[in-house]
Amino acid sequence: MEQDLPTIINAAGTLTRLSAGPLAPGVIEAMAAADQVSVDMAALQAHASRVIAGATGAEAGMVTSGAAAGLLLAAAAALARLDVGRMNNLPQTDGPDEIIIARSHRNGYDHALRAAGAKLIEVGLPEPMAGAGVRDAEAWEFDAAIGPRTAAILYVASPLASPDLQDIVAIGKARQVPVIVDAAAELPPAGNLRQFIAAGADLVVFSGGKVLGGPAGSGLLCGRSDLIMSAALQCLDMDVPFAEWQPPADFIDKSRLPGLPRQGIGRSCKVGKHEVMGLLAALDHFLAEGDAARHARWLSVCERIIKGVGPLDDITLSLVGADDVEQVPLLELRLRDALQAGRFRNRLLTRATPVHLARDRFNPSRLLVNPTCLRETEIGPLIDALRG
Ligand SMILES: *Cc1c(COP(=O)(O)O)cnc(C)c1O
Repeated sequence: MEQDLPTIINAAGTLTRLSAGPLAPGVIEAMAAADQVSVDMAALQAHASRVIAGATGAEAGMVTSGAAAGLLLAAAAALARLDVGRMNNLPQTDGPDEIIIARSHRNGYDHALRAAGAKLIEVGLPEPMAGAGVRDAEAWEFDAAIGPRTAAILYVASPLASPDLQDIVAIGKARQVPVIVDAAAELPPAGNLRQFIAAGADLVVFSGGKVLGGPAGSGLLCGRSDLIMSAALQCLDMDVPFAEWQPPADFIDKSRLPGLPRQGIGRSCKVGKHEVMGLLAALDHFLAEGDAARHARWLSVCERIIKGVGPLDDITLSLVGADDVEQVPLLELRLRDALQAGRFRNRLLTRATPVHLARDRFNPSRLLVNPTCLRETEIGPLIDALRG
């Protein structure tokens, strides 16, 4: 690395701010191989679509420049569908442009939906978080919020997300409103690649730069083929006469279009062939390695750290999630109180090579080592840093 470029040790997990995770084996090679050829980008995304369909069970898919880009494209697809005039106008809208979301699902990444022109319609109250009730948003509230301007429902997946996706999908199907699932960080388990599609979601977004091990600026969008076609049309470069343009018909059915949109709202989240091939290689490796081997690899990192650190004054070290191959195992540090934890964190962050640990937002006296971004060469220095 450059002399004046400070590096860090990331034991906090696949955070974009900390440059996301290491690439999976084979990704760099796939990106280098991509550099050796020229391709038509529509043909490349059509190829990606077939691979992603195979991995997710969806009708179609495409590689995006991240999960947030996937959300923007999903919203653009839901707003414009196959109306080329609408595609050209986004983020200005004259048709259905409302996306319904539970208040408890709101987060900074939903800015991507608004960037495409969507207006967010919030439903429900996260009363348990306020300590003032027991209910979160309920399925009937989504149903009640659907009207002529509704374009989609956004569901942000997490193990504790409520209401059940199944109930939201049932409403979406009954009212013909597509359900978009933000599953950016829901890998592992690998089964989640298929689970949300199998539950009936119309579009699902994953981050490529998290545990998948693809380029940090990559992601997956998969789902219904007409919506993926719309997303692709709003992202691909469209600088070609319509008559000359021959996209693969299984990806973009030209006969459904009166003409081509100009560069769409998604053109500013362009992916190159390097990212596409890199992500597909990561996906391949992710599926081939499987949850059990991945979990064992991470667990062994945690175990080596716990062994290397040995007993520490006033800090209890233990493993979390060691028995569940569907989770990322973590190394937990329990400190006396929030003050001690804050000092400990600060000491690590102010080292010559700063060390970032994960925090537990519900328990400030607890710190966590997340093994997913640690390289072999960083384990020794991390042990030294924890020992102080
Ligand atoms: C990380 C994350 C995103 C953004 O993913 P990128 O691939 O970095 O764009 C979106 N939504 C959720 C819930 C996330 O955790």
